[in-house]
Amino acid sequence: METQENLVYPWNTPPPVGTIKELAPGVYWLAMPMPGSLGHINLYLLEDNTGWYVVDTGLSNADTGRVWKEIFSSQLGSKPIIGVICTHMHPDHIGQASMITEEFRCPLYMTRAEYYQARSFANNGSSRRSSWQGQMFYSRAGMPDNYLEELQKMWQAHSAEGMSMPTMPSGYECLEDGQVLTIGDHEWRVVVGSGHSPEHACLHCAALKIMISGDQILPIITSNVSVHPTEPNANPLKSWMESHDKFLSTPADTLVLPAHNLPFYGVRERLRGLTAHHEDRMLAIEEACVVPHVAKDLLPVLFARKLDPRQMMMALGEAIAHLHLMMHRNRIQRTLHDDGQYRFLSIDPDLTRRAHPHAHDAPQDTPVMV
Ligand SMILES: [Zn+2]
Repeated sequence: METQENLVYPWNTPPPVGTIKELAPGVYWLAMPMPGSLGHINLYLLEDNTGWYVVDTGLSNADTGRVWKEIFSSQLGSKPIIGVICTHMHPDHIGQASMITEEFRCPLYMTRAEYYQARSFANNGSSRRSSWQGQMFYSRAGMPDNYLEELQKMWQAHSAEGMSMPTMPSGYECLEDGQVLTIGDHEWRVVVGSGHSPEHACLHCAALKIMISGDQILPIITSNVSVHPTEPNANPLKSWMESHDKFLSTPADTLVLPAHNLPFYGVRERLRGLTAHHEDRMLAIEEACVVPHVAKDLLPVLFARKLDPRQMMMALGEAIAHLHLMMHRNRIQRTLHDDGQYRFLSIDPDLTRRAHPHAHDAPQDTPVMV
């Protein structure tokens, strides 16, 4: 989705790969390469009196490792890295956590749910995708029998790009919502959101008017909010929308430092825009479901382009997330049919008044892998 909001971007491009750029006293920005349309992930360095804290680490691939080595030798002065903070457990955020914590023998900071989910996925590999739970999840959504196999092949092809889950450090320091980290002259408060990942940590410094937002608040692209076979009845979009409400209390003049796209002003506009976007997507689905639909057949409502198996997984997870929140709101009913598929039907008598079938957001071109 393209943004409708009036966001302000103080910088047009990320700093050249291998360099760091000071954004505010003690706050530095660097970018690491990412495959595909994302192009890069933004990482941040916070300067303490005796060393540096890294916020997020990039993919686990060799390229990113090489860039880190350049940064260690040319950008950090004589100070070591003394802590690695990962906002959440996705591969582009935790990819180099082990490498950096080994190199400097420094602790990893994460919330508990993110750390243990990362460890569990790293140990379990792709086997979770071939389980009977996975089969049942996708066949209930209307996917063909060979879909899991296709997905497996696709993931193997992409693991070379560093998109697979890396090995995690064997211990960590636990971050909690509301906790304050003192780094240099500044206090950073941990603000936890949920929906994109279970317990995503953002860092807010009120004095500097800066929020490091990870994937919790992104400009331009919408973070993936998906139901997965590991928790087939989860309601992540409910958590996501509640998190948007929580983050609306962020002061309006805050500079947001996201993990993708560019730093921006306009946090409240962006949160309102994201909420409106998901409400619109739900209404579009609800309008389609006046006749019963399986989840797979709702994908054209959300995504215009033909999707490969991996994009299909993200898109399907998102469609199901929207359906689950509407079930929670008593707007959609789900029934399991004899063919083993769930059918979704709109049940709100008020829908005819709320519907506006010709005025929806255009479907997104492809689901975003962050
Ligand atoms: Zn993410």
